[in-house]
Amino acid sequence: MSKDTDPAAVRPGEPGVKEVSVARHPRSYRGSTYVYAVLSRRARGISIGINLNPDKVCNFDCIYCQVDRTTEPRMRRVDEARLREELLTLLREARGGGLFQRPEFQSVPEPLRVLRDITFAGDGEPPSYANFKGVVEDVLAIKKAAGFADLKVILLTNATLIDRPKVKEAMRLMDRDHGEFWLKLDAGTEEYYRLVDRTTIPFAKVLANILDAARERPVVLQSLFVRVRGAGPPPEEISAYCDRVAGITSGGGRVSLIQVYTLARPPAESFVAPLSDGEIDRIAGEVRRRLPGVPVETFYCGAPA
Ligand code: SF4
Repeated sequence: MSKDTDPAAVRPGEPGVKEVSVARHPRSYRGSTYVYAVLSRRARGISIGINLNPDKVCNFDCIYCQVDRTTEPRMRRVDEARLREELLTLLREARGGGLFQRPEFQSVPEPLRVLRDITFAGDGEPPSYANFKGVVEDVLAIKKAAGFADLKVILLTNATLIDRPKVKEAMRLMDRDHGEFWLKLDAGTEEYYRLVDRTTIPFAKVLANILDAARERPVVLQSLFVRVRGAGPPPEEISAYCDRVAGITSGGGRVSLIQVYTLARPPAESFVAPLSDGEIDRIAGEVRRRLPGVPVETFYCGAPA
């Protein structure tokens, strides 16, 4: 589940140093393989990412995916000992105040130089990792040991695998640690879901999994809308999307927030483009009108209406 990836920028004169910005999310920090730091629009600060899918395999093939699958993965397996070490090193650097002195963070505006969360994101679907629960346990223990007991842990997921018993157990561990779940919902109809997320997994399964998870704790819906071959999502699709969310809330699911957003980095397909700020506002306005009890936040690509 990509929280966003981009070609890394290397600063002239500083070989190997990759600046972080909303427009650039290098999946590596100082040679790391599984743990990295990004400037996240949606977190409004620095997010530590954990990549459990270095093989870049995902059960979706979203047309807007920002994982670069044109290049071979650097690594295919997860070395959990190394992952633990990388996380501890990064957290210690943050604790000691040295993190934001690094050249990678020099262009990050001062108010955003805040460590906001640890997020399971990476180059695929985190719950697909066989020992996802074990890694969640490790991450919760490491952040506590590093002096970040209150730091939030977030799971970004397309919700297709969260019905697995072991994944549910992992999510309950995160619940007990004020964790958050950001579940992808990009469509209101099966047809549009298949157009955008390109998967054989039935839309009904995604909706059922979201409802099930939302009945157990409040969830965040992350809904990314784009222009596909020049056309944004039609009004009927947004209406159907609102119907699906209404179905979740009327079914006993709690939705703490809907994130309506668009691309900030180059997508997988050249026929995909971000929506303008005005288009995002119009979709968010309709969602607010139809779902008055659900908070909606918008995140833009920066293009005018
Ligand atoms: S769920 Fe979609 S956006 Fe996320 S990694 Fe898979 S293909 Fe990319």
